[in-house]
Amino acid sequence: MLRLALPNKGRLAEQTLELLDDAGFALPLNSERALTARVGDELEVLFVRAQDIPEFVADGAAHAGVTGWDLVVESERELCARLDLGFGRCRLVAAAREEGPVREVADVPAGARVATAFPHTARRWFAEAGRDVEIVPVSGASEAAPHLGIAELIVDLVSTGSTLRVNGLREIATLLHSSARLVTAPAPAPEVEGAIEDLVGTLASVVRARGRRYVMANVPRAALDRIPKVLPGWNGPTVTEILNSGAHVAVHAVVAEEALAATVRELKALGASGILVTRIERLTP
Ligand code: AMP
Repeated sequence: MLRLALPNKGRLAEQTLELLDDAGFALPLNSERALTARVGDELEVLFVRAQDIPEFVADGAAHAGVTGWDLVVESERELCARLDLGFGRCRLVAAAREEGPVREVADVPAGARVATAFPHTARRWFAEAGRDVEIVPVSGASEAAPHLGIAELIVDLVSTGSTLRVNGLREIATLLHSSARLVTAPAPAPEVEGAIEDLVGTLASVVRARGRRYVMANVPRAALDRIPKVLPGWNGPTVTEILNSGAHVAVHAVVAEEALAATVRELKALGASGILVTRIERLTP
């Protein structure tokens, strides 16, 4: 049985459960409080703190885990990211006081103090940047540190950057880009490798489907040569006959979400009618 470690609370917990649900692994409703849950005969889920998941997986207590890439890097454990799950996107950034003199990493004075909940990542990054800093580990709310006089700089996660601005801080560098990943040991036990591959394949099909829609439309047969340009599809559009309609055919194709508005507009311009857009549950190339 495959043991999978999932975040029990925090930002990643809900979206992780949603992903598993979409992938057909319905977790028991009381799973929020339970430490473990069984999903059929194939999966045993352990609910632990996102920060602890790299250790659980690296030590073999779980065969796979879902956690933020920032936490994997900070753990300094050797793990393999098998799949980017597409949520929990954020950046780990260095920031300084807006009204201060530090605008870029080259301005950071020797001995500057850096408050962060990511001491390993920050220490390594500043060393590689050739800056000699003192790391001040904090467990959270590092954005207050420069105003409290505890540090001149912080290293913290941001998604929009608005928290930094509200706190009078200016980003000076991005240390890493993060998102939720499915991670395993670099060489999982051979008896679970097949189950891991299946899990990666299933989750990947859901992640791939999320950013895409299925578009169907009736188009004039005369416009068919221009359809592949408007509706390229996964392997080219599907074209089918419409009963008793010699002048029109039905075309179907997968479209990236961000291209949807333009696709519908172009289909209309080609004389399409009955344009139907639906969600896709899973997509396996
Ligand atoms: P937390 O909810 O504080 O336990 O954060 C868990 C993880 O959520 C972090 O380690 C990141 O991988 C991720 N995350 C995504 N967006 C953000 C954000 N804006 N700020 C902090 N963490 C984020």
